[in-house]
Amino acid sequence: MSFGLHRNPPFRAEHLGSFLRPDYLLQAQEGLEQNPENRQALKSAEDKAIQAIVHAQLDIGFNSITDGRWGTFFQALQGFEVIERPGIDMFRPYMPDIAAYIEEGHGPADSVICNGKIKHVGSAYTEQWDYLKSLLPLDKVRGAKLTLAAPEWYHMRYREGKAYPTWVYASDEEYFGDIAAAYQTELQTLYDHGLRNVQIDDPNLAYFCSEKMLAGWEEDRSNVRSADETLDQYIRLYNDCISKRPQDMHVGIHLCRRNIVKNRHFSEGIFDSMAKKLFQDLDVNTYYLEYGTPRTGALAPLKYLPSNKNVILGIIAPKFPKTENPDQLTSGVFEAADMIAKGGGDNQEEALDRIGVSPQCGFTSHSGGNALEMKDMLNKLKLVRRLADAIWTER
Ligand SMILES: [Zn+2]
Repeated sequence: MSFGLHRNPPFRAEHLGSFLRPDYLLQAQEGLEQNPENRQALKSAEDKAIQAIVHAQLDIGFNSITDGRWGTFFQALQGFEVIERPGIDMFRPYMPDIAAYIEEGHGPADSVICNGKIKHVGSAYTEQWDYLKSLLPLDKVRGAKLTLAAPEWYHMRYREGKAYPTWVYASDEEYFGDIAAAYQTELQTLYDHGLRNVQIDDPNLAYFCSEKMLAGWEEDRSNVRSADETLDQYIRLYNDCISKRPQDMHVGIHLCRRNIVKNRHFSEGIFDSMAKKLFQDLDVNTYYLEYGTPRTGALAPLKYLPSNKNVILGIIAPKFPKTENPDQLTSGVFEAADMIAKGGGDNQEEALDRIGVSPQCGFTSHSGGNALEMKDMLNKLKLVRRLADAIWTER
């Protein structure tokens, strides 16, 4: 599929994913754990927190306003059920987050599994989107962004043969075919509700850069495909999911690699070899990538970015309050532009036109949030805005 370059969205200053949760929201979440009758109180607290963060983004001057939520999709589909306290045996133990559960000595959280023919029977996201839309001035609706779940999420977590019952689907292709059809329907439904800007958050794809994961995959005799073949399969699934989107619907992917960065098994060398595939075969408009500090080694894969695609450089740390040096960040952005220019025949200025900046990831990587306060988070978002304004004239 070929498509033109999308602009606005994505914007020069972007945010990815979650925000810190205010105390009243954390208290309301605790309240629900203690008593199921507190659901309405939690809903009110969530609405209030979303209103506050939407206004903060508007004040700072962001355009791709988000509610910070990562909604679930599979639970809303016919053919999936929630399993409480699933046995560890059904998971691939070398998936970094499953490995973390095993290391910490407790079982995985509740999961969702296919138990019948998959069918889209009602939107998972329209209620959430309609609420966000209701909080926005009319001219901000078009840029506002919704974060969706990744389509290969459960297939990759579960061991070979565990993702679906064989009496329902004879092959991965059949199973993926129905998942793709469900995404197509969901995207069209959201489009009809006015959504034009989608970000898919995917920690799984980044696992293909984890040496430990790849070693585990190879040792697992039950796998019928290599990790490389599986990545190709997932790219085809993605492309199928987004193949019917209208031309003016922007779709980006955030390759979220925070777990592997923490575990130090992420390999820049492997990322370089997989980046070509990811940048050239995956039909998204924009990549939201996470960078520690923009070093040449990490930026090198950008030479594969085709001229009809954007990259948002996640270069501001959401994990600590100290703000980065804007000059250093600016030179990192120019270095990235040079790298893109080197690969695609653009000059630096043209390459710069396909770049934006953002935090590396969301501000809440666990329920309590990262080790910074609300005011620190707002300072970080202001820095994203200032950095973008210093590099580009348009927003
Ligand atoms: Zn992330």
